[in-house]
Amino acid sequence: MFNKVLIANRGEIALRVLRACREMGITTVAVYSKADRDLKHVRLADESVCIGPNSSTESYLNVPAIIAAMEVTDSIAVHPGYGFLAENADFAEQVQKSGFVFIGPDPDVIRLMGDKVCAIDAMIKAGVPTVPGSGGPLPNDPEACLEIARKIGFPVIIKAAAGGGGRGMRVVHTEGSLWNSVQVTKTEAKSAFKDDTVYMEKYLQNPRHVEVQIISDGQGNTVHLYDRDCSLQRRHQKVLEEAPAPGIPMEIREEVYQACIKACNDIGYRGAGTFEFLYEDGRFFFIEMNTRIQVEHPVSEMVTGIDLIKEQIRVCAGEKLSIKQEDVKLNGHAIECRINAEDPKTFMPSPGLVTNFHAPGGLGVRVDSHLYSGYTVPPYYDSMVAKIITHAPTRREALKRMAGALDELIVSGIKTNTPLQMDLVRDEGFLEGGVNIHYLEKKLGL
Ligand code: ADP
Repeated sequence: MFNKVLIANRGEIALRVLRACREMGITTVAVYSKADRDLKHVRLADESVCIGPNSSTESYLNVPAIIAAMEVTDSIAVHPGYGFLAENADFAEQVQKSGFVFIGPDPDVIRLMGDKVCAIDAMIKAGVPTVPGSGGPLPNDPEACLEIARKIGFPVIIKAAAGGGGRGMRVVHTEGSLWNSVQVTKTEAKSAFKDDTVYMEKYLQNPRHVEVQIISDGQGNTVHLYDRDCSLQRRHQKVLEEAPAPGIPMEIREEVYQACIKACNDIGYRGAGTFEFLYEDGRFFFIEMNTRIQVEHPVSEMVTGIDLIKEQIRVCAGEKLSIKQEDVKLNGHAIECRINAEDPKTFMPSPGLVTNFHAPGGLGVRVDSHLYSGYTVPPYYDSMVAKIITHAPTRREALKRMAGALDELIVSGIKTNTPLQMDLVRDEGFLEGGVNIHYLEKKLGL
C-alpha cells in the first residue's frame, strides 16, 4: 500500500479523501492555493504545500506545480478527487512518467472515455444500449447533417465530444435552425474544450438521469454498486441525488449492470467509475462515462456500506478488489442534497465569511463538508460547500430524515440553497418518485 498520498483537490472531497487515507494509515499531503490556506483538510493533513495563487489555472490545474509538490514531499500517489485534473489524461500520463501513481484508470482509458464519441462506440461494442444518434462526429456539411437529423428524427441535441459539466450542448427542434446550431456548438466547444468535434443524438423528451456505479481492479474483477437517480437538475447540473433509482424493475437494471461490467472488463478499466444513462419508457440509453469518483458517491456508499474511496485507493495500488458481487447488498435508501453558497432564488454565488456553522446529526445522517464557523468561502471556485446525506430503510423515511436534517442545518453569514432543498424534499411530485430531468426547472418556472 502507498505510504503517502497527495490530494490534488480542495473542499469537501479533499477532506473525504483525507479521512479515507487516515483510516488506511496513509500519510497525507494537502496542496492548496493562496486563498485556501484555511481549508479544513489543509489543517488536518500531515503535510501541506502551497501550489500557487488563487486562480485555479495557476494552482489546482497547474500540473508542474502539483508534480513538484509530489517530488518535494516524497509522495507515492495522487488522488485527483472530481473536477480539476480528475479526468485529464495528460495529467495522469505526466504523473506516471514522473514515477508516481495516478489514483484512477490508465491515461489511455481516460482519453478513450473522455471523448464521448469514442466512449459511445466502445459501449456499443460492449453491448451497452446508447441513445440513437450520429454514431460518430458530424460532417462539416449542412446537407449531410440534415440527412442524419432526419433519420434520427427531431428534436435532436448537438453535443461536444469533449464536453462536460453540462456545457457544450444545444437542442434543435427544427430543420431550419440545425446548421446554425451545429456551427455555434462547434465554436463554443472549440473555445471551452479546445476541440470542435460535435455529434448528434435524439433529444429524449422526458427521460430520467440514472447512473450505475462500478469499481474495478483492472485485473478482470468488476462489481457494480447499483444505481443512482440524479434527475433533479438545473442547467444540466445535479442538485439532489438518491440511491437506488426509484421504481425501476430489477430485471431491467440487472441487464444494464451486467453490460457495464462487461464494458469495464473489455476496456481494462481500473478504479471507480460511473456509467450515465437516460432512462425513458423502461429503457436505458448510455450518454457518457465518468472515469473518477463523483460528487454523489456517498449515496451509493450508504446503501451498500462500501467505502468507495478506500476501494479506489486499494485497486490503484495494485491490490485485487476486496469485494465480490455477492457481498454488495442493497440496504435501504439514501438521499443527498448539495448545499451551495448561492442565492436560493437567483442562484448568484454568495461567497464570504461563515459566521456560524452547525451541522445536523443523528441516526442515518452524514455531512460531508469543509465548513466551520469563521471559515471564509472564497469566490474563486465551485460554490458547493456541503453535502447532506441521509439513509433510512425506505425512501419516504430517508426523505423525512432529510427534511429534519435541513431544518437543523445552520449556515450563517452567506446565502445557501437550503430553502430550495427544503422545498424539494417536501414536494408532492418528487415524493412520488421517478420525476424526469425537466422537473426542477419547470418547478422553478424556467
Ligand atoms: P456532461 O458531460 O456535460 O454532464 P451529459 O452527456 O452527461 O453531459 O449530459 C448532461 C445532461 O444533459 C443529462 O443528465 C441530461 O439532463 C441532458 N441530456 C444529455 N443528452 C441528452 C439527450 N440525448 N436527450 C435529452 N437530454 C439529454
